[in-house]
Amino acid sequence: MILPPFTLHEPKTVDEAVALKTKFGKDADFVAGGTDLLCNYKYEINAKPHVISLGTVTELKSFDTTRIGAGALLDDVMTDSGMRRDLPVIPAAIGVISSHLLRQTGTVGGNLMVDTRCFWFNQSKFWRDSISGCLKSEGDACRVVWGAKECVAVYSGDLAPVLITLGASVTIAGPKGRRVVPLGEFYEHDGIKRHVLGEGELLVEIRIPTEARTWKASYRKLRTRESFDFPVLGVAVAAKVDGDLLLDAHVNLGAVHTTPLSRDGAISQFIGKRIDEATASEIGEAVADGLVIHNNTAMTPAYRRKMVAVFTKRCFLDVTGKRAVAETASR
Ligand SMILES: Cc1cc2nc3c(=O)[nH]c(=O)nc-3n(C[C@H](O)[C@H](O)[C@H](O)COP(=O)(O)OP(=O)(O)OC[C@H]3O[C@@H](n4cnc5c(N)ncnc54)[C@H](O)[C@@H]3O)c2cc1C
Repeated sequence: MILPPFTLHEPKTVDEAVALKTKFGKDADFVAGGTDLLCNYKYEINAKPHVISLGTVTELKSFDTTRIGAGALLDDVMTDSGMRRDLPVIPAAIGVISSHLLRQTGTVGGNLMVDTRCFWFNQSKFWRDSISGCLKSEGDACRVVWGAKECVAVYSGDLAPVLITLGASVTIAGPKGRRVVPLGEFYEHDGIKRHVLGEGELLVEIRIPTEARTWKASYRKLRTRESFDFPVLGVAVAAKVDGDLLLDAHVNLGAVHTTPLSRDGAISQFIGKRIDEATASEIGEAVADGLVIHNNTAMTPAYRRKMVAVFTKRCFLDVTGKRAVAETASR
């Protein structure tokens, strides 16, 4: 498949990038590493005539353990010694994103902004035309939920659930200046709208509170191919613990909903309890209970729901020292 034609713009600053996006509006996309966007373009999925490269905007590239520029390469963050020491769950989660080659091109911002996925949508134009498209491509009907008015394509990035449990926020730049939004409030339900970015806005950086370093965290991922693949389930847990006593915790699920999904409400009853095998199992069941998972990515909803309970249990054992912290299911 070949890329459809587009005009490439190469701004040098965030302000120039914002001005270009404001000028071209819905006729333009930002591109960072291009490992998600350009694959979709090759499938002729919502390709635009103008593409604004963020690869030439130096402000976006720097990072440390308190802030990560949206344009920082996944591989650079993963191999950074400070990050490995202070926030090991972030390199661990990056280590299971796609492949080594893609991590050397893909960025942290691009990962947070990765498009939602659905097997009625991530197909060639020829294939999509055979079913007259769907809500998110050229059609006007959802192929997953009969009569649905909103797209249920699944948020399938690995890093967002982890960063949300660590209390991260994002700095957004736009025509009206800059604003900071908690990452947990950044995503929006509709699989087409996806997030709160307005016209002309882009992600500048991810801020991580220093307190996150004192929490224990774990990320576990289910995927079809262990060599490289999008998650069909990601479970992130960050907890404040004293030995096996759970003082506070956040749980966030990836790849089960149109957005990263907080399950903090399901685990509040376990705060103040000691975590052993049995309690961790109960927490896993509580997190999985009542989840609505649609049949629109690999593996059945019933299996993925079961694995929510299994991985949540393992994550809670990880953070209370019963298994290696940040050990992932695929390693
Ligand atoms: C074979 C394969 C396997 C993959 N496996 C995984 C996986 O396991 N886990 C996973 O999470 N991802 C996976 N991906 C997707 C992708 O590689 C990563 O998510 C990567 O981090 C995307 O970063 P990028 O810089 O290449 O994004 P791009 O493709 O450049 O952009 C992605 C989206 O983000 C927008 N964007 C980028 N930067 C900004 C910004 N600063 N502000 C506003 N919008 C922005 C773009 O407009 C675009 O909509 C896979 C991709 C492939 C091709």
